[in-house]
Amino acid sequence: MKALFFNIPAHGHVNPTLPLVRELVKSGDTIICYNSAEFQQKIENTGAEFRQYPEKKEYKNFQPENPFLLADLLWKAAEDMFPFILSEIDKENPQYIIHDSICPWGWAAAKSAKLPAVCSTTTFAFNRDVVKSVSASRWNILKNFWEGGTTLPGMLRRIRRLQRKYGFPQRRLIQNIVNESHLNLVYTSREFQPASHTFAESYHFIGPSVPESQSAGDFPVEKLDNKPLIYISLGTLRNNRMDFYLNCIEAFRSFTGTIVLSVGKQVDLAAFDSAPENFIIQSHVPQIEILKRAQLFITHGGMNSVNEGLFFGVPLLIFPQTDEQGMVAKRVQNLGAGLVLKEKDIDPETLMLKARTVLEQPSFRESAEVQMKYLRCSGGREKALIKIHEFKKKFIG
Ligand code: UDP
Repeated sequence: MKALFFNIPAHGHVNPTLPLVRELVKSGDTIICYNSAEFQQKIENTGAEFRQYPEKKEYKNFQPENPFLLADLLWKAAEDMFPFILSEIDKENPQYIIHDSICPWGWAAAKSAKLPAVCSTTTFAFNRDVVKSVSASRWNILKNFWEGGTTLPGMLRRIRRLQRKYGFPQRRLIQNIVNESHLNLVYTSREFQPASHTFAESYHFIGPSVPESQSAGDFPVEKLDNKPLIYISLGTLRNNRMDFYLNCIEAFRSFTGTIVLSVGKQVDLAAFDSAPENFIIQSHVPQIEILKRAQLFITHGGMNSVNEGLFFGVPLLIFPQTDEQGMVAKRVQNLGAGLVLKEKDIDPETLMLKARTVLEQPSFRESAEVQMKYLRCSGGREKALIKIHEFKKKFIG
């Protein structure tokens, strides 16, 4: 069978899908993945075909932190992209569509072309119960509404215009953001997903696709063995926090072990020339190889990083940089697998105290290891393949 896969240009939304795409290709399906040029190699390595979206500068990064502004931008992109997407469906004549959960043009094009669809969710699955259970604060919701709520009427008008033009159904507001389809795959465990019992039977929590090992390149992994290890990273996007990195250096200056600090590509490595000997500071490191050896992971709470940390049973200190990461952080803290760091907690003394608490109280490691078991037993790409097979039988025949 043939499927068109519409994703958004973000590594965090593409990486978890690659092992599944590879399996689908192996099983005999033709998968054509749409994205921007920088993803071509990664996608082609799976055996899938790559097609480029029409390039438009403002849609290269879907990064607004405010969910209203993000939804508005995504629907603007959908309006621009629709003629291209529909002409591709017309030309390729696929049997089904796969789309990311924040990719409205994928969902709407499937409906418009009357094709069954699989939704790929690389964050937590969302509904009102999730927001209630792990939302950072009422104040944050109000702040977001205040800052982004004015885009709502325009967005709803755009969606109605597109509905009339392309003939897809009207939905409740939250559905225009989460884009639920016939089959919904979520790359975390049922136990880690907040309010998982509130999701329909079409949702399957298949766990993350974390490799057991990765190439370390010229990173000196052998230096990490047989010593305590703290790993610090704020991910690949919002990592321009020199103040935080310098505080980490002060906090862990006399730590008797190694600290690996991944600072991203936005800060100048020369600023760390006088860092103590026990620090290894780089702009990008082989995170999997480091997590396998770490006793503590200080992270921004990106879904991939948290899944990866817990996959190796590493307790977490989470310093969230966005609301979504705030929700992941709260979930980790509620499950006892780590603590949340607020802006007021990042002075060297508090950082060191919180790190010691997580390192020294065994309950954090034990809870992280419980989550590790759940993540590893979620079925992975094998379960996803079975669910896609059932979906094909039911909706395609
Ligand atoms: N990563 C890495 N090396 C680094 C920093 C990050 O390999 O030095 C990888 C990490 O393993 C994860 C991804 O980059 O798979 C970051 O994704 P996440 O969702 O955690 O955060 P984002 O970068 O999207 O904010």
